Amino acid sequence: MSIKVDPNLMKDLRHFGLKDADKCMHCGNCTAVCPLSTEDNPFPRKLIKYAHMGLADKILKSPEPWLCYYCGDCSDNCPRGAEPGEAMMAMRRYLTSKYDWTGFARKFYTSETFEIIAVAIVAIFVGLALMLFHAGSPNMEHAHLNSVWPASAIEIADLIMAAILTFLLLSNTYRCARFQMGDLLFKIPLGIYIRQAKELVIHFLTQKRFSECTDKMQWLVHLLIMTGYSTVFLLVAVFLAGGLEVIGLAWEPIAFQRDVIYPIYHPMRLLGYYATFAIFYGTTYAMIGRIRKKKAPYKNSHGTDWMFLILLQLTTLTGILIHFTRLLDWPMPTYTLYVIHLMVAVPMLVLEVPFAKWAHLAFRPVTIFLIKVREAYQKEMQTFA
Ligand code: SF4
Ligand code: SF4
Repeated sequence: MSIKVDPNLMKDLRHFGLKDADKCMHCGNCTAVCPLSTEDNPFPRKLIKYAHMGLADKILKSPEPWLCYYCGDCSDNCPRGAEPGEAMMAMRRYLTSKYDWTGFARKFYTSETFEIIAVAIVAIFVGLALMLFHAGSPNMEHAHLNSVWPASAIEIADLIMAAILTFLLLSNTYRCARFQMGDLLFKIPLGIYIRQAKELVIHFLTQKRFSECTDKMQWLVHLLIMTGYSTVFLLVAVFLAGGLEVIGLAWEPIAFQRDVIYPIYHPMRLLGYYATFAIFYGTTYAMIGRIRKKKAPYKNSHGTDWMFLILLQLTTLTGILIHFTRLLDWPMPTYTLYVIHLMVAVPMLVLEVPFAKWAHLAFRPVTIFLIKVREAYQKEMQTFA
C-alpha cells in the first residue's frame, strides 16, 4: 500500500498554531507522562512524528487529537520545549478545517483578518436586521422587548438559525466519523452503536476523561464553560423557543423572549443563573491564564482562542446587564443592550458552532464513542471467530 507524503504539512500546520514541534527529538517522554495516552491510542509523540513525516492522511484518520484535553502535562515534561500539548491543539484546529466541507473553517483558522471581518459582517448584519425590522413604536414606559421585536418573529429567526447550524455541525461530524472509521462505519451493526450510545452522553456531559489529568482545575473550567453553554442552548433553543410546548410538557405558555420575569425560585431562572456564573467564571479564568501565561495550556494563544473567549464573555456580560435593566424596568437601555447582545451572541454561534471551538464539543465525545464502538465490535468478532 502506497503512503502519500505531504511535504508542506509542517508549514500548513504552522498556520493552525503549530510552533516548536521541530525541536522534538522523539524521546517519548510526553507519551509516557500523558495520563490519557493508552497502549491502543498512544499520543502525542506519534502525532508529532506523523507531522514531521508529512503523513497528512494518517493525522486525518487519527482519533488521538480528540483524546487530548490539553492539560499541559506533556509540555511541562518535554526536555526540548517542543510544546507537544500545543501541537495537539494545532492538529485539532487542522482537523476541524479538514472535516468542514465548506472551507470556511480553514479560512477562519488561518487568517486573523478573515476571522475579524467574518465576525464584524455577521454582527453588522444582525444589528441592521434588528434596526430595520421592528414593530411600530416601542413601549417607552416599560422595558417590553416584545413591543419592539415580536417574540414570534425572533423565534422563527432562532429556529432557522438552529436548523442551519445543526445541519452544518452534523455534516462535519459525519465527516469526522467517516475519516476515522472508513468503511467500518457502515459495517458495524446498528445494535452496537445503540448499546454504546451511553458513552456519547456520558463523555459529552461530564468530560470524564479530562478529570484523569493532573490539573483538576483545568477540567473544572472546561466543564463549567461546556455545561454553562449547553444550559443556555437548552434554555434558548428548547425551553424558551417553545420546545416543551411542542411535546406537551410546558407548565405555561412560553416564548423565545419573555417580558415577564420568572420568580427567583423558578427552575428556568435558577438554570439561567447557573449558566451565567459557569460561563463567566470559566472564561475569566481562561482569559487571566492566557494573559499570565504560567500554565502550559495558556502559554500559546491562537487568534481564535481569544476571539472565542471575548465573544463568549461579551455575550454573558451583555446578558447580565439586560437582566438588570429589565429588573429596573429601563426601556431604552434594555433595547440598546439587546441589540448589542445579539450582535455578539449570533456571530459567536454562527461561526464557532460549526466551524471552530464549539465544534470540538461534538467531535471529542463522538470520537470516544466510536473508539468504544470499534472495541465492542472487535470483541464480538473475536467471540464468533
Ligand atoms: S515532544 Fe518533547 S517529550 Fe515528546 S517526544 Fe518530542 S522531545 Fe520528547
Ligand atoms: S496536553 Fe495532556 S492530554 Fe494532551 S497530550 Fe499532553 S498530557 Fe496528554
